[in-house]
Amino acid sequence: RIVYVNGEYLPEEEAKISVFDRGFIFADGIYEVSAVLGGKLVDCEAHLARLERSCGEINLPLPWSRTELVAIHEEMIKRNALDEGGVYLQVTRGAADRDFAFPKDIKPTLVLFTQARNYVNAPTVKTGIKVVTFPDLRWERRDIKSVGLLGQVLAKQYAAEQGANDAWLVEDGVVTEGASATAWIVKGKTLISRPLSNKVLPGITRKAVLAFLAETDFTFEERTFTLEEALDAEEAFITSATAFVMPVTSLDGHTIHNGAPGPTTLRLREIYVDFARKGGVL
Ligand code: PLP
Repeated sequence: RIVYVNGEYLPEEEAKISVFDRGFIFADGIYEVSAVLGGKLVDCEAHLARLERSCGEINLPLPWSRTELVAIHEEMIKRNALDEGGVYLQVTRGAADRDFAFPKDIKPTLVLFTQARNYVNAPTVKTGIKVVTFPDLRWERRDIKSVGLLGQVLAKQYAAEQGANDAWLVEDGVVTEGASATAWIVKGKTLISRPLSNKVLPGITRKAVLAFLAETDFTFEERTFTLEEALDAEEAFITSATAFVMPVTSLDGHTIHNGAPGPTTLRLREIYVDFARKGGVL
């Protein structure tokens, strides 16, 4: 694979980052993941807008324009001949002798790599995913897409050990979100997902799904829901840049929708895939 590091496109074996990089030492950095379908970026502008917002919230000035960042993404897709998969971007405050406060005159580190994956025909689309819950151990600024992901790592490791595909994070009995996705439940024609706040990452896929609702007869109820309510839901699903709209058919060992993906989830997935194939511009 060819990776991008600070202005250079290099074979991954040749790429180097300083031991003193604050991304490595403090998780002082931000990331984004954009999907690629048919060699084209999906909703990249929205991901870059969130990148700018996350960087703003931690006072990390971004020296690259949005146009430059899109061009780097496109060059990475070309150099890696990526048809379907994801582009991961990480920006950190840069490298300096270890000290908590921001060093003066530090230059940010920018890294991109690609991952070839089958998102559209993922095998879990037919079966739905098995989800287990895990305590939400994360900090209070989950709206910032920080590279500090230990809470998610522990949750997903727990899920893997339970033979599940993913984890939902729970705080005071309420589902905050998936470990790397927005969590939704369905009751009749109503989709339920919690409001945006510091407690959750504002999902780009969530926003896209909400924009489509006008094309359907579904309505949206923006509110928190408890684990208890989710266990009793008619359908459940997650949304993310890489899962798209993915049915959840088992939650903490309880079967949802008789263990098969539900019609509402599959309809939303179909609309999302169409949108993503067109580059995902809303
Ligand atoms: N919530 C968390 C914690 C995530 O890590 C992600 C995606 O990585 C999402 C939600 C979904 O966001 P998006 O739809 O922008 O991928």
